[in-house]
Amino acid sequence: MSIQRAANQFVCDLAAYEPGKPVEETAREIGLRPQDIVKLASNENPLGPSPRAKEAMHAAIEQGQLYPDGGGWELRRAIAEKHGVEMANVVLGNGSNEIIELLCHCFLNEQTSLVAAEHAFVVYRLMAKLFGAKYKEVPDPGFIHDLDAMADAITDDTRLVFIANPNNPTGTMVDGVMIERFLDRIPDHVIAVFDEAYYEFLEEPPDTIGQVRKGKNVCVMRTFSKAQGLAALRIGYGIAPVAIADLLNRARQPFNANAIAQAGALAALVDNEHVSRTVENNAKGLAFFEESFDQRGLRYVESKANFVLVEVGDGDAVFAGMLSRGVIVRAMRGYKLPGWVRISVGTKEENERCIEVLDEVLEG
Ligand SMILES: *Cc1c(COP(=O)(O)O)cnc(C)c1O
Repeated sequence: MSIQRAANQFVCDLAAYEPGKPVEETAREIGLRPQDIVKLASNENPLGPSPRAKEAMHAAIEQGQLYPDGGGWELRRAIAEKHGVEMANVVLGNGSNEIIELLCHCFLNEQTSLVAAEHAFVVYRLMAKLFGAKYKEVPDPGFIHDLDAMADAITDDTRLVFIANPNNPTGTMVDGVMIERFLDRIPDHVIAVFDEAYYEFLEEPPDTIGQVRKGKNVCVMRTFSKAQGLAALRIGYGIAPVAIADLLNRARQPFNANAIAQAGALAALVDNEHVSRTVENNAKGLAFFEESFDQRGLRYVESKANFVLVEVGDGDAVFAGMLSRGVIVRAMRGYKLPGWVRISVGTKEENERCIEVLDEVLEG
């Protein structure tokens, strides 16, 4: 018997997650210096990590021989305080992506299903498949989650409904009124998961943590990867009623959040200045991109996040053309959007370079 046949079939059927192309790899391939590459492919913070976090992480390295605080006491306490919940409501993850996985560990198997929007963050599908569960995809007209249709899609075997808010790669969001109506329709055996990786960029964020305080079956996920600029550290968290948080805690590895990341996150949590600078840079960058697309007659999806989805004709060709000129964007075939690319907002210079190169590719 081949080793592949010995593996779980649902794992064999899985396509591995395709991350944004790394800078070093691209530089090697096209013979440029890494510093000449512009990466606008993974929604990273163009201003770098929170300076406070950097300082705290340097200090934490001195204790690198010690295992981390497995309970994440200080960081969880600070997160709980910030959001007006109890420590028992907070679960740390190796990136918020791990919280997705922990939810699936706890609630999915071959007899259960996960509901998500058609153009939702692709990791939900990967995880559902990894646990052999059914993945129910609900159309999202105008690229906006249709919460009524998602509630309609819930069946007795449904355990999790994922709402990325705002969603990646579309950048669209649902508001508090829509969420309230949605939650009123959710049966007791289902958890509504709000993935709020881009929360800091929202002008009018819905109060989903308030729903956790009310004891609803809601899990809110946040990350330090985006506005705080700590994607390399892999640290995020979930906030949920104690009954759910307790299950997630049992499913995680003992030291899933490393000590350097915990120290960095703790400092970043109070670095409002860095977040403000980041949000301001982002608003300008988004406006620049949208104006540039308007001038060129390119269709795009109005974004609430730190990236924008734009229709360019042949997404793979534009991706490749831009890559060969040192600008990395993200092709969207994996999201069944072969005509589109997703561009993360960078610094002013990076955004301008991106449009320059996009012009060259579209003209050529
Ligand atoms: C970037 C992103 C995350 C963050 O993942 P981490 O594991 O915390 O780095 C989560 N959800 C969505 C939709 C994202 O785009």
